[in-house]
Amino acid sequence: MRHCNSVFQAEDIWFLLDNENETKRKLYLAKCPICNKEMALYTSVNQQSNEAFEKYYYSMGAHRIKQRVKKDINYTMLGFKNKYKMPSGFIYGKNLEIYKNGKVIGTKQYACDFFGNKVLVKKIIDERT
Ligand SMILES: [Zn+2]
Repeated sequence: MRHCNSVFQAEDIWFLLDNENETKRKLYLAKCPICNKEMALYTSVNQQSNEAFEKYYYSMGAHRIKQRVKKDINYTMLGFKNKYKMPSGFIYGKNLEIYKNGKVIGTKQYACDFFGNKVLVKKIIDERT
């Protein structure tokens, strides 16, 4: 997100359900680290034209858009992180193979962030071995 000539990460991202015109609706929430202003960035894609839309809201406007879309929340980044006790920052999935005597016997699925933290989410052992 951008404000005061700086770029910073959202503190939370709300992933919203589609409405009749839009899909991939997201609300990014943050406080500007420079001026401390409350901010919200709404993004979506128009279902007919496939055009991306984005709009920034500040202070009371940010508060109002939060109230307006709260009912459409599918899940939130913070909720997801708490559920899986995720490390902070951007999350991506990583699968590592489990070896035993040189043979692959299963897969370990990790959630990782870009700071090198990782959390084991799931361990799958192949039953046949
Ligand atoms: Zn600012």
